[in-house]
This record gives sequence, structure tokens and C-alpha cells, in this order.
Amino acid sequence: IILEYKTKGKLQKQICQVALDHFEKQYTTELGEAWASVRDVLTYPLCWQYAILLNKFSPSAELENTLHVKGYHPAFPGSLPYLPASFKCYIRRTPGRFPAQKHQAGKLKEYYLLNAASLLPVLALEVKDGEDVLDLCAAPGGKSVATLQCASPGQFHCNEYDDLRSRWLKQTIESFIPDPLINLIMVSKLDGRHIGDLKPELYDKVLVDAPCSNDRSWLFSSDIQQATLRLIQRKELPYLQFQLLRSAIKALRPGGSLVYSTCTLSKAENSDVINLILNSCSNVMPVDITEMAKAVSQEFTFLSGMQQHELLVLPEKGRAWGPMYVAKLKKI
Ligand code: SAM
Repeated sequence: IILEYKTKGKLQKQICQVALDHFEKQYTTELGEAWASVRDVLTYPLCWQYAILLNKFSPSAELENTLHVKGYHPAFPGSLPYLPASFKCYIRRTPGRFPAQKHQAGKLKEYYLLNAASLLPVLALEVKDGEDVLDLCAAPGGKSVATLQCASPGQFHCNEYDDLRSRWLKQTIESFIPDPLINLIMVSKLDGRHIGDLKPELYDKVLVDAPCSNDRSWLFSSDIQQATLRLIQRKELPYLQFQLLRSAIKALRPGGSLVYSTCTLSKAENSDVINLILNSCSNVMPVDITEMAKAVSQEFTFLSGMQQHELLVLPEKGRAWGPMYVAKLKKI
């Protein structure tokens, strides 16, 4: 059932046939012709790319020189007017992974490796200095770190329900954020579904980077039991995502906005969840994010036919970013 994936005789990651069969059926219907090229990227890890988000709190001219020499270029060169010059993310067209930095107690890391599409929810949130921000599902902390590269929030609340992942989140924050600033960050371990009731109307911005099917990782599930379990869990995710969003809306001040994101292509976890929220909550309205999408369209491929308040990044060879769904809503 598990297909071996081999390059030059060396065993690489293994594609899980249960997941692939499921995707094949669902995404041929939902994405049409676009699915074939997305599948080629998702099933071929040798063409995967990694972006390098620089840590403005630990700048290194040497690192930037090395990146230039290795053919990296800025992912968002002056494309978004509100992005400060200190926000630097490097990418290159060729696949491969820059070496990760190990955690060293007492020393800040210089960069964070991530899928460049993961930055789009953070950019869509448009956090401004002094705003109170909640990152509802924050571990391992990539988007929390990215948010702090964009602005200095007033209060920054990072939440993660899972015990182990919450420790991972703490470690990420300690590795990237220096002492005085770190005191403004509150890390909690709550069920995000209850935060709206616990902290009503407290935040200007909320990021709901929801637990989702995570297509890339599901496709490489290590065994058949795990893959089958995920198939069952997949059905339950839309309701959890809906509950997290409802809680996020409660936690927002009137006039505040939220961004919802997932790293699955599944319509049931993306547009369907957002449409359900828009149809059932009279105090939210969609926010147009087409300008942002246009500004970054040189480096990302988007599914066409989406509504103005949402986008779906489709991985493509040479621009293997995503899958990433992003939607923005405002509380009235
Ligand atoms: N935002 C993170 C980042 O950029 O590094 C990734 C978040 S991941 C997509 C979703 C996270 O939500 C997982 O770490 C998962 O443990 C957490 N989660 C699952 N259920 C949750 C809940 N009820 N409340 C809060 N977090 C939850």
C-alpha cells in the first residue's frame, strides 16, 4: 500500500497510497485540471523549496551575503507598502533546503526556514505597531515569529492547546525574540474554542492558523493505520475549524479583523468553513485581499475563481509554495 519513493537507488520519503487515492478523487473534482500539476509537486519532495525568514533581532550581513551567493532573492521586494524594510524573506527557484540552525541556549537564531506561502496569512493580517494580537493556534511558532518581524504589537498572545507543541512554541519564541520584547508575549495552553469566552473583545487582530488535514504531511504518513486514522479525523476538522473561528470572532474588538488559514486544498476545510461563518454570524463581513494577492503574484500561483476575501496557493514547479488557504474577515 505504501509506495517507495526512490532516487538514485536511495530510499526517500514514502508516498501513502490511501491519501493519494483520496486526494485524486476529491481534488480532481475540486481543482479540475490544476490538480495534475499540484500532485506532481506534492508527490515529488525533491522539487520542494524552503524560504528563509531572517530574524531582524539577530541581523547578519554575512548570512545575507551567503544567500545572495547561493542565488537567493527577496520574496517580497517592495511589493507591500506597509511591510517594513526589516522584514526580509529570501527564496530561490531551485529546490533544496538551507541548513537549519540548532537551538543554542542564550543565543538568538538568525533565520527561520518555512514554506513561503505561510507568510501570506501574516501579511494579510496587517498587524500595526501597538495593536493587540492573538495567535490562536500558534505552535511551532513560525507565524508568531513572522508577525513580530512585521510590527511590534501592544500585547501579543500566542496560544497552543497541545502540551508538547506548546513547549515547542515557547522554545521558538525564546530562540527568536530578545529579552525586553519577549515580556510582551503571553504564551498560553488553552483550548482555542474557549478563548472567545475567556477574553471577549480584547484583540485588534486574531490569526486562526487552524489545525487541518495538512496535505503534504498526510501524503507521507508513515503507516497505513496513521493514514486511515487521519482519513476519519479529516471529516471532523471542519466543525473544529468553525468553532475556533467563532471563538476568534468573540475575542475580536468590533472593527478588528481576523485571518483564517490552512495548509490543505480541501474545500470543506477552506471556503465551506468561511461561508458557514459568514452565513451564521451577522457581526462579520468579508475583507477584500485581492490587492495583496496581486502584489505577491510573481512568486505564488493562486487558484482562479476564488472570492475576493480568500485565496488558495497552489504549489507549482519552481514555485512549490503551498498548499495554503487564506481568508480575511472583519468584525462589525
Ligand atoms: N501557526 C503555526 C505556525 O505557523 O507555526 C502552525 C499551527 S498548526 C497549523 C495548528 C495548531 O493548532 C497545531 O499546533 C495544533 O496542535 C493546534 N490546535 C489543535 N486544536 C487546537 C485547539 N482546540 N486550540 C488551540 N490550538 C489547537
